[in-house]
Amino acid sequence: MECRKYEAQVQNFLDGKLNDEQAEKFILHVQKCDRCYDELEIYFSIYRGIGRSDDRMIEDVDFEFDGTIEDLRDMLGQVLREIEKRRTNRNIKLLIVFIIAVILIAAILILLSEFI
Ligand SMILES: [Zn+2]
Repeated sequence: MECRKYEAQVQNFLDGKLNDEQAEKFILHVQKCDRCYDELEIYFSIYRGIGRSDDRMIEDVDFEFDGTIEDLRDMLGQVLREIEKRRTNRNIKLLIVFIIAVILIAAILILLSEFI
């Protein structure tokens, strides 16, 4: 059912072409779906063989790849953690921008009130 969608995303995932939200859904699916995991594992081996993953997804997440297939599960966990970290950083940046905006507005209101 859902599997077709995720099977179609395997190569894009390995190429690092999925956005964070897509990649997260993809990983959560393959972690519990043997069929899609097997599909990913096949492509992972092929990509590893021709060296494509080295400068894409795996490097993005700073993953030390030592060439054993078990590392695919580690890599998926690592990618999930990176996505989570990026999301947290984004939320922190938004919060900082919001606080600065509030301070600026307060400062402007105080300045204005002195002229009235
Ligand atoms: Zn599946």
